[in-house]
Amino acid sequence: MAGIFIYSDKADITSEIIGFARLNGKLPVVLTLSEKDAQALRNAGADKIIVIKGQSEMIENYARAIAAVLKNEGAELFAVGATPRGRDLAARVAGYLDCAMVSDISSASYKDEQLICTRMLYGGAVQQTEKLSGLSVITVPAGKYEPVQGEASLQTLELQADTRVSVVETAPIVKEGVDLSKAEKVVCVGMALDKAEDLQIARDLANVIGAEVGCTRSIAEERHWLPAESYIGISGAVVKPKLYISMGVSGQIQHVYGIRDAGLIVAIDTNEKAPIFKAADYGIVGDLYQVVPMLTEALKK
Ligand SMILES: Cc1cc2nc3c(=O)[nH]c(=O)nc-3n(C[C@H](O)[C@H](O)[C@H](O)COP(=O)(O)OP(=O)(O)OC[C@H]3O[C@@H](n4cnc5c(N)ncnc54)[C@H](O)[C@@H]3O)c2cc1C
Repeated sequence: MAGIFIYSDKADITSEIIGFARLNGKLPVVLTLSEKDAQALRNAGADKIIVIKGQSEMIENYARAIAAVLKNEGAELFAVGATPRGRDLAARVAGYLDCAMVSDISSASYKDEQLICTRMLYGGAVQQTEKLSGLSVITVPAGKYEPVQGEASLQTLELQADTRVSVVETAPIVKEGVDLSKAEKVVCVGMALDKAEDLQIARDLANVIGAEVGCTRSIAEERHWLPAESYIGISGAVVKPKLYISMGVSGQIQHVYGIRDAGLIVAIDTNEKAPIFKAADYGIVGDLYQVVPMLTEALKK
């Protein structure tokens, strides 16, 4: 069966990729290891949902078997949700198929039966367009396509798992920081801070306006002043607050990627040419050590 074969360990991304397939007039076939997901996706517009049965609970252990299914079924595309597990599976399947793969597409569309994909490179600094023909693999981030509706048939399929790797133990990751993606207001600190104690300047402002404190990658990954969950940008948290205030953040593209959807951006920086001012709605050119305490005092009143 030709069509787009889909896998994601996140059911909402699966629904969105089904939407992509339908939008392009292709038959969406969902692969899943989870009965529960199969039931949840029953009305999400797929043509067929195939529940994989086998000796492993790790989807990546079926990569070789999935590659064979795609070949046998004459699949046009294997579209995988761009989660850590999905990326792992996608790369293995593309390896077994020895076919083209584009990871983390920004957009995808068909033209003359060729798939045209765009994706960002160099941390978002440039956008690349790639043309794919023949059976290919892509990974698709969340939020790219609209889900659709429609009932799917269900099928189970026994597949041979590669059991050389198995799960010995699982444990939740203990998160130290806040979930910035849900914050309504964010105060963000950058490398302009001289010492860790000066984070208090940001915390004081954040307390007054009811904001969470975030930072640039360098503050979390180089100086380790805040936990990794606190940094914003292309490789960190993508935030959508109503208000984002930065202090001493230069506004490099990799950081700005994470604040594009903020309602109102206020930037404080000594350098009037700092790129953050291009992204900002309001800019204050000044020393954060003077400006922020004054702002905090004014807002207290
Ligand atoms: C592949 C890749 C991915 C990356 N991903 C991310 C990411 O997800 N998130 C991220 O943040 N970065 C990311 N980076 C790093 C990014 O390119 C920048 O290096 C980083 O964002 C810069 O952090 P900063 O603005 O804190 O520091 P700087 O660029 O050093 O900026 C400091 C700013 O403070 C100003 N300043 C100095 N003193 C004062 C003062 N007293 N008062 C006010 N302003 C002052 C300066 O004028 C300057 O604008 C990534 C880089 C790469 C290559």
